Amino acid sequence: MSTTRIPPSDTGFDIKTLAVELQSLGVRTRGGTPTGPGATRAGGAGPSDAGFVWIDGAPLTVPVHGDYVSRSPYELVMHSSGKAGRLLRDGVEIGPVHLHPRPRIYDLETADGVPYWKIALMHLDSLASTVFQRCVYWGTDEQCHFCAIGTSLANGRTVPVKTPALLAEVAEAAARLDGAKDVTLTTGTPNRDDRGAAYMARCAEAIRESSGLPVQVQLEPPHDFGWFARLKDSGVEALGLHLEVWDEDVLRRVAPGKHAQGRELYLSAWEAAVEVFGRGQVSTYFILGLGESAQSVMEGCRAAIDRGVYPFVVPLRPAPGSIVAHETPPSVDYMREVYEMVAPLLADAEMLSQGARAGCVRCQACSALSTFERAFGGGRDGQPAEEAA
Ligand code: SF4
Repeated sequence: MSTTRIPPSDTGFDIKTLAVELQSLGVRTRGGTPTGPGATRAGGAGPSDAGFVWIDGAPLTVPVHGDYVSRSPYELVMHSSGKAGRLLRDGVEIGPVHLHPRPRIYDLETADGVPYWKIALMHLDSLASTVFQRCVYWGTDEQCHFCAIGTSLANGRTVPVKTPALLAEVAEAAARLDGAKDVTLTTGTPNRDDRGAAYMARCAEAIRESSGLPVQVQLEPPHDFGWFARLKDSGVEALGLHLEVWDEDVLRRVAPGKHAQGRELYLSAWEAAVEVFGRGQVSTYFILGLGESAQSVMEGCRAAIDRGVYPFVVPLRPAPGSIVAHETPPSVDYMREVYEMVAPLLADAEMLSQGARAGCVRCQACSALSTFERAFGGGRDGQPAEEAA
């Protein structure tokens, strides 16, 4: 699915409920799923199995492919033009949706004939790329159960390694042609030493020079925390150090490679990174729906916030090609319970998401947390000017 836009005045639904339900239940499509390179993502890191929508000014990635989506009460009925449609819930219309124009960079290619969409994708107004498409854990007993990083490569939808020069070229075009506001760089773990930090620093520097866009880098904590200052010197403005799961037993089961690194290493890395990047510019994902309790999630969120780290809580999105491909996302009630608890903690700590300079915390589309931050004056509220026109 390409980006859809639901005019605020037409939704008539509580925005929080709509956001949480859409992310937990997904949306079926009738009249054809919008297609084309990069239109939806059926694998890979980030919002795989997702379509991109704006709802009442809030960006959202929404599942469209999983088995469970066929049971969703939500349906997107496309007009024959393929450019617009209507969102229904149990057959009742919620509002019209309009397809976002296909990003202009998707029509460009490098001098060697590599399409730009194989190098980076537009996630709404964020340019995002998985820099190194392989991971030392993939295909071993240490593989993260929720990850599908190997599938994009196997399906020919990307290239194994993006060079700094290629990323710089695409980022410059994305800023100029598609209004990209930032760049999110993630990576599989290429080695057990610097965990990719040196290469990510080179990529960020090249992007910064060509486009001027702020860059978030996501990687596993390197053992030498001196890399954080070197990343910052290369122009990185925000850092993602994703523990993913707080509960130790669940972490051991679903992310054995990360568990072997140890939760304590993550805590130390968070503290060291915040010293370099500042409060609210370092983040961790917490993926909900892997067997953990709400209580353990809240322990993790408090541990993160106490250290100046933003806990980006997201529902499990069972990605095709991942070990959990046939699971279902967590329930609406569970997600809502956690969002209701996390948002005030962020407000108390004065770490709401709009302070983030780059990356997933700035974008917010993979979580409904942004819609819960609104009660505290936070969250994203408003589409980019070109979207709202
Ligand atoms: S939060 Fe935004 S930038 Fe991050 S993976 Fe989701 S869509 Fe991409």
